[in-house]
Amino acid sequence: MTVYLDEPLPDEMLFSVIARYVRMSPVGDTARCLRYLMGPLGAVATDETLRFEHLSAQTDAAWGRSARAIQDTLTLAPFYSTVFGPSGDPSISGPNSRCAQWSGFLEPGRPGLRFCRSCWRRDDNLNDPRYWRRSHQLPGVVTCIWHGEILCLAGAATARRLLTVDTQFDDARPAVDGSASEVIAWDAVARLAGQLLRGGCPWAGFSDLGVCLEYVQRCGYGRGASLDLARMSRDLTTRLGGAYMRVMGVARNDSIWLRRALLRPTRGSLQSVSTLVVAYLLMDSSTRLANSNFAVCPGAKSEHDEDHRVSRKNMGDGTPHYFCSCGFSFICQQFNCGDVSIVPTQVGPDLAVTAAILASRGYSVVRIAGTLGLEVRDVERQIRYGIEVRPWHRRTVRARHLASWIQLVDHLGDANLAFQRDVRLWRQVAALAGAFSEGMAPALAEPIERSL
Ligand SMILES: [Zn+2]
Ligand SMILES: [Zn+2]
Repeated sequence: MTVYLDEPLPDEMLFSVIARYVRMSPVGDTARCLRYLMGPLGAVATDETLRFEHLSAQTDAAWGRSARAIQDTLTLAPFYSTVFGPSGDPSISGPNSRCAQWSGFLEPGRPGLRFCRSCWRRDDNLNDPRYWRRSHQLPGVVTCIWHGEILCLAGAATARRLLTVDTQFDDARPAVDGSASEVIAWDAVARLAGQLLRGGCPWAGFSDLGVCLEYVQRCGYGRGASLDLARMSRDLTTRLGGAYMRVMGVARNDSIWLRRALLRPTRGSLQSVSTLVVAYLLMDSSTRLANSNFAVCPGAKSEHDEDHRVSRKNMGDGTPHYFCSCGFSFICQQFNCGDVSIVPTQVGPDLAVTAAILASRGYSVVRIAGTLGLEVRDVERQIRYGIEVRPWHRRTVRARHLASWIQLVDHLGDANLAFQRDVRLWRQVAALAGAFSEGMAPALAEPIERSL
């Protein structure tokens, strides 16, 4: 049997070329055709060796491509190689256990085969056959890197379907629905995935856990040895949207998926999406940190996110302290090399927990806002989304003391009287003095060493 495959089109997936041949030629036995192309081992890869030697020989007259060139230009291997292996390592042992090699390492499952209407319009205009592009089939990608459009779904990418897959989809639905800001984030993910596919490795964190954890800390998700992966997971979901996370299969109420992606990189489709979106978040946040002239909350979708308005307060220790309307608080640490790092502090979460305690004790939101120096809408939000103000170290002691202090001041009508009544209670909350309203701090109090 002789198989004359077309010359592949730009960025075409391997299965797409074979499918076109199967569709255009009278191929009765597609399994035999695949065996002819891929060798006696058929469609299942067995070891770490390059898997396209046989295909390279069979297509030499038409393509003249080496096995390595086939792997680099017609498959998703370069993407996996950068995400999972040391940079430049051509072996991809991971996906081949799940993907047929003739597919070009297209993973089965979520979200399925994708195409861009504008790309296919372009094919029609050029009189090219419509074909399946690699950049659209990358894990985590839902927008076209050339047109910025949301890709359309053409069903699940089961191996059996790939060789008979049609390129006429008039009623295809979008791969995922989302808001404008989410589309911006998807676009950034698609561009990053495209970079990885084309052999660029823009970030050492893919292969170096130390670098990755350094970024986690720099972006405000860690302090010392503790990582706040729950907040990181929530911020990532806010940026990409719940629908996206569900479509990709990483929708979770917990942060286990994130812990796996960060600390135990393994292989598989879910893992590659997790690794990709985590890299997106850390790279995007650190770029924002380096380029922004003012402090931005890590949870903000953009520098001008109305849900994350940051104000600056002086806590008396000379270091500007930043409070976000979401309840998060931090200081910015500047290093000699010019890098800036966001260091979370306990003050903001303490104020938010105090607000919740006071609300449970019958205080009105307006009164709480005035006492704590917060805006009413922020107090409402922080109380409503109590989970968002989860204390950094699950410490609520200081917040309980602050609530008691405020009640004592209210009861006596004056902060100095409260100070005379209970000096010890004041000392428990004195470090927070710069954060809440002045009327709650006693003028009598001596400067107390502040510890944040
Ligand atoms: Zn397109
Ligand atoms: Zn915030």
